[in-house]
Amino acid sequence: MTGIYLDYNGSAPVDPRVVDAVASALTDGVGNASSVHAFGRGQAALVDVSRDQVAALVGGRARDVVFTAGATEANNLVLQGLVESAPEGRSRVLISAVEHASVRATAAWLAEHGRAKVEIVPVTAGGFVDLEAFEAMLGDDVRLVSIMAANSETGVLNDLAPIASMAHEHGALVHADATQIVGRLEFNLETLGVDVASISAHKICGPGGVGALIGTQATKNQLRPLLHGGGHERGLRSGSLNVAGIVGFGTAADLAHAGQAAESIRLGELRDQLVAGVLAGLDDVTENGDPSRRLPNTANLCFAAADAQAVLVNLDPVAVSTGSACSSGVIEPSPVLLAMGIDRQAADESLRFSVGRFTTTDEIAEAVTRTIDAVRFVRSKSGRT
Ligand code: PMP
Repeated sequence: MTGIYLDYNGSAPVDPRVVDAVASALTDGVGNASSVHAFGRGQAALVDVSRDQVAALVGGRARDVVFTAGATEANNLVLQGLVESAPEGRSRVLISAVEHASVRATAAWLAEHGRAKVEIVPVTAGGFVDLEAFEAMLGDDVRLVSIMAANSETGVLNDLAPIASMAHEHGALVHADATQIVGRLEFNLETLGVDVASISAHKICGPGGVGALIGTQATKNQLRPLLHGGGHERGLRSGSLNVAGIVGFGTAADLAHAGQAAESIRLGELRDQLVAGVLAGLDDVTENGDPSRRLPNTANLCFAAADAQAVLVNLDPVAVSTGSACSSGVIEPSPVLLAMGIDRQAADESLRFSVGRFTTTDEIAEAVTRTIDAVRFVRSKSGRT
């Protein structure tokens, strides 16, 4: 890989050990994991190992795992599947204002089709779910609460234990999108009291297109499938299993789990080196999101008077990201930053830096220099010295 890759929250490079595991699954594996012959049983045994590895990453049990094609599908399955089976009188779904699009858009679709009454829980200026507002919104008619563990754009962490216990007092189920937290910080379903979580392999140096939901047995029993067919994954996700992808996911989960404690310290040091270097070299830079409780690998910086798209282009070959989305040819600012009360202009001047397993201190030093140069250049073009 050439360039300096600081977009791990977008997708992480695949670990070479994962590549090896996927390659041998593809080369040596024959057969459908559902087939009863020896070839099929061999494939199923590989899936079983991965199921254990993925479950261990979130403190769940192997039977709690449903493999999907990623966190987008897992989020859809949780929201649609639990709304579908909601008992009479439980028609409300609460999601935070800063959820990933796969939660926001699914909730919006459910509301649009009259399947649920969706309400958005506000966040504070620091990016946390507003706990007082959340408590006031709860009621015995809430079916599901969906609150992410860590935000992909700011890294801000939600305090899920009190959120889950408040929701449970009203008989609501609790879903956490844990896609960004696993492998970076400890995340344990049982300790937090979360009923079901979604994760994705490509955020933990695994392959793209494979993910999982992990839920308690009671929650899984209430899920209704999105995909109908051969009844794979205990009827919750039909379709022949992507054995090589699942093997890659399991290997990635194992590596992420084993390395997490040391990795979170190392990543925090790299991120702090980056932020300190940028702040030392430039005026008028602020951090979006409360820095006291966020992922160790993420910084979201606002460079006043420097359009983020222009900085991004001038930063090449350093790869970072804006949270903006292009819809109908118009660049829309990050809904996450807007929900935190950040104005449109500041949102348009914000960039996310996210480091990961293969980031080095030399790369950070180089990225700091290039960021300072790019921001100065963009500011000078807009008449600012
Ligand atoms: N949730 C969060 C918090 C994410 O960051 C992402 C990936 N950007 C997703 C869900 C979607 O994951 P996938 O790409 O596996 O569908």
